[in-house]
Amino acid sequence: EEYLTRLQQTEPYVKSFLYVSDKVLADAEEIDRRLRRNEDVGPLVGVPVAVKDNLCTRDMPSTGGSRILEGYRPPFDATAVTKLRQSGALLIGKTNLDEFGMGSTTEGSAFQVTSNPWDSSRVPGGSSGGSSAAVAARQCAVSLGSDTGGSIRQPASFCGVVGMKPTYGRVSRFGLMAYASSLDVIGCLGSSVMDAAILLGAMAGHDKLDATSSKTEVPDYAAKLVPIEALDSKPLKGIKIGVIRETMGDGVDSGVISSIQASALRLEELGAALTEVSLSSFPLGLPAYYVLAPSEASSNLARYDGIRYGSQVPADDLESMYGSSRSNGFGQEVKRRILMGTYALSAGYYDAYYKRAQQVRTLIQRDFSKALDGNDILISPAAPTAAYKIGDKVNDPLSMYAGDIMTVNVNLAGLPALVVPCGFVKVGERDLPVGLQMISAAFEEGRLLQVGHIFQ
Ligand code: GLN
Repeated sequence: EEYLTRLQQTEPYVKSFLYVSDKVLADAEEIDRRLRRNEDVGPLVGVPVAVKDNLCTRDMPSTGGSRILEGYRPPFDATAVTKLRQSGALLIGKTNLDEFGMGSTTEGSAFQVTSNPWDSSRVPGGSSGGSSAAVAARQCAVSLGSDTGGSIRQPASFCGVVGMKPTYGRVSRFGLMAYASSLDVIGCLGSSVMDAAILLGAMAGHDKLDATSSKTEVPDYAAKLVPIEALDSKPLKGIKIGVIRETMGDGVDSGVISSIQASALRLEELGAALTEVSLSSFPLGLPAYYVLAPSEASSNLARYDGIRYGSQVPADDLESMYGSSRSNGFGQEVKRRILMGTYALSAGYYDAYYKRAQQVRTLIQRDFSKALDGNDILISPAAPTAAYKIGDKVNDPLSMYAGDIMTVNVNLAGLPALVVPCGFVKVGERDLPVGLQMISAAFEEGRLLQVGHIFQ
């Protein structure tokens, strides 16, 4: 009730929800009855969770932020959602996003623009901007997001919350609307690293409905977080941390750089051994990502044809019906990506774009694995700037894409990364949050969470 009241008070300013559950209190009462019968209700009992609207939920509409799916009610839950329900969580509603996850601001939603709770004239980041704003405004305790090129980490940074992007395959993608299937992962946002550890533990694991989900054992992430009062003065002794040189120079806001430098010193004070590492392929990640992600998207979005899902615009013949349903149902950015992807994949250009981008992807993977051979964790900013004004980049897609420079490489390599709030930059009269990104080798989420917990 408290969360719902808070949600109703703040929602006119934040606009983070596309749908608020009308049965969350009834669900809470049911959980309460089970508790009274001494049933095992799981570690998330009674915790209100908000879910990004590109995840399927059987009792709430699931639109992906797109007109083409307006009113769509899936007959099933995403596996991550099923697992949360089984852990006792309460689904409070569905959060706003850039259409199908394509964007960095939530301005690409077909329905509404979400505001940053720190300054309502600014974007909350994206594409999981509804999920990050909802946590920052305390409209829910924790939320689910998805991350194809930074969509959990950049909004976490802009809204001053914790964001966890797991290893590719750590969480089943079943029921996540596909954007770029080789990059997509489901992860979570919360106010603390402990929140992220509990949520990840509840969602992770193999699922026979997603052949790319991993069979690697799921550790008890939360149990391994040492209580702060039990730590000595150098709890990070023995941990090697590399600062990625290419992320700390040109094009990065000076206030962001100082926050990351201060965080690095703090990690050193806590006992970590600090070095600078260079990933020479780093600047190639952004162009490679913006070839590969739209290519996969152009193929994945072929399913929205006006027949199988959502809205149909009637026409005289089949071909025109596809055309009119898709022209009417998709927004500008999604159309742009479908065009870019179709172009990059077309026969005469395949070698020059798609194949070349895949080669760059291999270089990036190699550079990361070399750097992570000598280091436990790599650090960088989560975004080159703090939250910018709504409208600033709407007409300049290239400058919006450029803001993804810190995050896309991690998806190209399939690695896990955790973003924790690490300071503020002064922009005009305001202090705006900055996030520190920590990257580790695949399936080392436990280590990221331990270090993040101590740091936070
Ligand atoms: N901003 C990036 C894009 O537009 C990443 C989005 C995401 O991770 N879903 O593709």
